[in-house]
Amino acid sequence: MLEESRAYFRHAANVLGLSDRVRDILLTPLRIVKVGLITESDEGKLIQHTGYRVQHSRVRGPMKGGLRYHPSVDEDEATALANLMTWKTAVVDVPYGGAKGGINCDPSDLSERELNEITRTFVGQIKDVIGPTIDIPAPDVNTNAKIMGWIMDEYSKYAGFSPGVVTGKPLHLFGSEGREEATGRGVTIVLEEVLRSQKKSITDVTVAFQGFGNVGSFAARTMAELGAKIVAVGDHAGGVSNPEGLNIDELVAWTARHGSVARFPGGDAFESSEVLTWNADVLVPAALGDVLTKDNAEDVRASIIVEAANSPTTPEADEIFRRRGILVVPDILANAGGVTVSYFEWAQNIQQFRWELGRIRHELTDHMRKAYACVADVAKKRDVDLRTAAFILAIQRVGEAALSRRPYA
Ligand code: GLU
Repeated sequence: MLEESRAYFRHAANVLGLSDRVRDILLTPLRIVKVGLITESDEGKLIQHTGYRVQHSRVRGPMKGGLRYHPSVDEDEATALANLMTWKTAVVDVPYGGAKGGINCDPSDLSERELNEITRTFVGQIKDVIGPTIDIPAPDVNTNAKIMGWIMDEYSKYAGFSPGVVTGKPLHLFGSEGREEATGRGVTIVLEEVLRSQKKSITDVTVAFQGFGNVGSFAARTMAELGAKIVAVGDHAGGVSNPEGLNIDELVAWTARHGSVARFPGGDAFESSEVLTWNADVLVPAALGDVLTKDNAEDVRASIIVEAANSPTTPEADEIFRRRGILVVPDILANAGGVTVSYFEWAQNIQQFRWELGRIRHELTDHMRKAYACVADVAKKRDVDLRTAAFILAIQRVGEAALSRRPYA
């Protein structure tokens, strides 16, 4: 994944004609932290995990990005995703750099007490390199508001009361209205803008989702509310389809009870691997990275791909989509709604003030529309695809800030 994220950067850097010196300044991570986590299982056995926090850039502000709990987490993955956060925060113009991290664990194997202890041990090991003006973690794959609340509590033991050290917290613990839905809602706002540019409406399109976790389910819900037909959803355990459109509220309730969309009675079952090549106008990968590859890119039938997941498309697949005229809306634009509302949450924490849901949604819509307009403008002026345009915009913003801060670096 690391080499792939660098390939996208390099492509945009070539269009911009960036010197090697500026490339090196922009690509080198500020700090890579790797910590050993030793805790005790409920049975009293020693359990060992490794935690990571990669801090890529602080040029535009404190570093920002999620923590994922997944067996795939390692230094390369965290570095690639930290990199992406730097470009993502720049694309939506929130005053942050980029970071990412996590723990190489599988939360489904852990009790709540074990998860709590692992999280608190991790915070103890990284407390000196995070903080409300240094680096602010947030939820990502397999992490949620409850875990963010534990992080705030543990960090506050060392640093004093610090709600601004982490975002995505529970609403009753200095979280923000609208944070949980933010990434999914942002995906929908960007899709609406793309369709508007094609003189189409969201009521005209059918959509297939890979993944129905936080991001996928809220994106599906907001799209369905606006009249889109969600015709297929696949997750880790199975898929369900309905050509008339799935009832998303019922599917959300079913998933909450059964842990998967599989066997949902409101549609027909299918093998989840088929969802990426489903016959729908729009494909939304909303799970893990590297799922669209040279092996399946030729078979994709959607004409628009909206990257709700981070890094779902390999550069080879991206090239195939470009050649086939499939429009790819890149992750650093499409899924930036989460970090945008994280910014609103952090701003509220610092001001010790609360914004209402209406204001959050309004500001999120504004930020996402502006970001799309800026990216589309670069794409048109430079005659490049949306991903290259988003990288160009981000590299310019980060590069100008870097050179203004340290012109002789
Ligand atoms: N993990 C999310 C992302 O990849 C949110 C990051 C944040 O809110 O800081 O964008």
